[in-house]
Amino acid sequence: MESVFRQAQLSETEMRRFGRHLILPEFGIEGQRRLKAGSALLIGAGGLGSPTALYLAAAGVGRIGLVDPDRVEETNLQRQIAHGYSTLGRLKTESAAARMLDLNPELVIERHDVFLSVENALELISGYDVIIDGTDNFPTRYLVNDTCVKLGKPNVFGGVLRFDGQLSVFDARRGPCYRCLFPEPPPVELAPNCAEAGVLGVLPGVIGALQATEAIKLISGIGTPMIGRMLVYDGLDLSFDTVTLAKSPNCPCCSKPSGEIVLRAEPMVCSAPQPGGSITAEALLARLDAGEDVLLLDVRNPPEWAGGVIPGALTLPKPEIEAALRASGRDADAVLAAIPHSREVVLYCQGGVRSAAVIRSLAAAGYDSRLLTNLEGGFAAWEKVSTALVPINEAMDT
Ligand SMILES: [Zn+2]
Repeated sequence: MESVFRQAQLSETEMRRFGRHLILPEFGIEGQRRLKAGSALLIGAGGLGSPTALYLAAAGVGRIGLVDPDRVEETNLQRQIAHGYSTLGRLKTESAAARMLDLNPELVIERHDVFLSVENALELISGYDVIIDGTDNFPTRYLVNDTCVKLGKPNVFGGVLRFDGQLSVFDARRGPCYRCLFPEPPPVELAPNCAEAGVLGVLPGVIGALQATEAIKLISGIGTPMIGRMLVYDGLDLSFDTVTLAKSPNCPCCSKPSGEIVLRAEPMVCSAPQPGGSITAEALLARLDAGEDVLLLDVRNPPEWAGGVIPGALTLPKPEIEAALRASGRDADAVLAAIPHSREVVLYCQGGVRSAAVIRSLAAAGYDSRLLTNLEGGFAAWEKVSTALVPINEAMDT
């Protein structure tokens, strides 16, 4: 067992700062050196990611990766405590990194300001010892699971909804994976309504702190990880139950040899009534190929445009649109003037989630939802059906 753990030397400052760890007989200097030599990747720097990021940084994990393309919004601050008013509008990875470095200046932080996708998941996840799933949507959750199974990485899972939380460690080498429990995403009518579902602000704090605990145990090699068990937390009654999980011999993921596991983008399921229409990438391509003048609006963030945009698309990041909808005045009007009221606009982001949120915001602000269309599966789906990508500058000039 000893040989699988790497160790790093501690500086004098670290010996002082981690004193309360060093005097724990079960942890000691050995545990601290293992933490420093170890690494964790946080998928999501939001509700679950905030406490996890802060506690892992404070505990002395040597290298932490943050995956999140979003920017800090005011409505995040009810639960996403790694951020604050001073970082509104900044990238969440940037905002969280500043807090983490304040707790532990020796920490190495690697920021990935992107959505986890079928294209980047293997590269991102392969670079870390422990993966922490702090996502709020099914496509990313399944992608994290499948990639971790394929690469043989432990996946510290956390989920929160309203007053309830769940926690487990999925490690297909030693126990079940997420698909052993839920082979496929739920049908739309059973899915929680995602971004619109409420959550008690402290709940992700409870579950995120437990995820941090499991990650620290895995990296330092202490205790018994939550493999093959799921913690079910009821915040209203305050009860913690533990359910035993079995590995499924028919699991569509972990029953296969890793070489046969194919990463795929699961569809976004959301039971919240979504205003506006939707279009598949194939149907959009057919309309464009037929010469139809379709007004496309790319609401991703600027770094994402470097990988290409749909030819002719207008580019306007979601945070800018939402800020303009909240604000008033000439600057806000200038932003919104780009989005016409009188003709159809096809909106897209990377996976179709953020653009759906923009459609909800526009509809709430008085736009005719019959003229707002969401590209299903977003740019990722478009890329699969089209090879006609153009560099960003060319698209912006049109
Ligand atoms: Zn499985």
